[in-house]
Amino acid sequence: MKIHVIADKCQGHNRCYVLAAELFDVDDYGYATAANDGQVPAGMEEKAQLAIANCPERAIEIIEP
Ligand code: SF4
Repeated sequence: MKIHVIADKCQGHNRCYVLAAELFDVDDYGYATAANDGQVPAGMEEKAQLAIANCPERAIEIIEP
């Protein structure tokens, strides 16, 4: 599974990072990017789904199932 944060949509709430710190990097302003080039490690798919579901801007997309 691979995820991507759509930079134009991200508003820097940090919810994704709070829910799944392993999957996101956050800059000084709170804006997130997908860690590890978006690759979700095996066994962390559920956490990724949780972050996606909790992003208020719908800024996290799945680019590879
Ligand atoms: S929860 Fe969504 S809007 Fe907030 S920092 Fe994460 S990707 Fe950006």
